[in-house]
Amino acid sequence: MKIKKVEVFAARLELKEPFIISYVQLEDMPTIFTRIETENGYVGWGEAVPDQNVTGETWESTYQIIKHELAPLLLNENPFSIDRIHQKFNDKIFGVPSAKAALDIALYDLMGKISGQPLYQLIGGKAHDEIQVPQVISIKDPKEMAEDAARFVAAGFRNIKIKVGTNGTDDIERIKAVRNAIGKDIPLRVDANQGWDRIEALKVIRETADCDVDWYEQPVKAHDMKALKEIKTVSHAKIMVDEGVHNIHDLVDVIEMRAADVLNIKLMKSGGIYPALALANLAEAAEMPCQVGSMVESAIATMAGAHLSISKSIIDTNEMVGPLMFTKDVAKVQYDGDVIQFSGAPGLGVEVDEEYVREITRFSCEIR
Ligand code: MG
Repeated sequence: MKIKKVEVFAARLELKEPFIISYVQLEDMPTIFTRIETENGYVGWGEAVPDQNVTGETWESTYQIIKHELAPLLLNENPFSIDRIHQKFNDKIFGVPSAKAALDIALYDLMGKISGQPLYQLIGGKAHDEIQVPQVISIKDPKEMAEDAARFVAAGFRNIKIKVGTNGTDDIERIKAVRNAIGKDIPLRVDANQGWDRIEALKVIRETADCDVDWYEQPVKAHDMKALKEIKTVSHAKIMVDEGVHNIHDLVDVIEMRAADVLNIKLMKSGGIYPALALANLAEAAEMPCQVGSMVESAIATMAGAHLSISKSIIDTNEMVGPLMFTKDVAKVQYDGDVIQFSGAPGLGVEVDEEYVREITRFSCEIR
């Protein structure tokens, strides 16, 4: 069972509305799709959505690194040799987690297809009955965010996550306005995406103490673990670390410092499912609940995250909402209200529309 061909597609997915967070505004989503084929005709799909502010990778750099450095390492490999393949990736090049994730996801899709099992069955089975997704609201005026939130709750979403992090004063208004709009029973999560400093973060957390926020995510710069720890130590609130943890080495530091209460795992930070499983296991040892986050990913990486989410009991929330943000996707993710449906088909369980992938591709290559 050998890999004989890897294709790489640099594509752009059209968004329903611009995605706005503290450090970037995106009009469309640059993404890289990978297609791995074995000698006997099995095909696995993967995806990279690099984020230059988080992983230090761009759309173009990710494409080039997959093409020149990583994909050639897969030729003649057995797709089940996932540990060995990650060792080869890491020996070849440091970092570049989303490039590695694009191939890791395609390998898991292949493993599922070859063994005739949905991906979650290979990595833990169904630890949860279902995967409930939140609605994620971009940074806007407080009033608009409140209207968005109320509309989503009326549409049946049972969790709201809001993006903040421009400045503390406005963010306090945003959090209060959204809490007022959705009533007291809907869980509310706040993500500052590194947008505050320690003083500002403490001010926002103090001033919104009556808003019953589940957790405040990445309030300060990714590298500033000491500030994260200080915020966690002196405030009543739960603190989630996101950009501050990419891999198990980062997580060891967070655990040793007791710098966060909850962890946001993303396949694009970890380098794929295999290293994400190590993160989840380490977090479990430290009794630190996890979320699987995303980078506004298409059906491919979204379903990879969904399979991971459902398969580990320590992962109790997720933000697998990318497909809700596109005008058209490369495959269908079935949402039943705010619950992701698993098709039961092998691997990722999605059927990729190859014609559409090619239509939105700006440049591509084939490694064989
Ligand atoms: Mg985040």
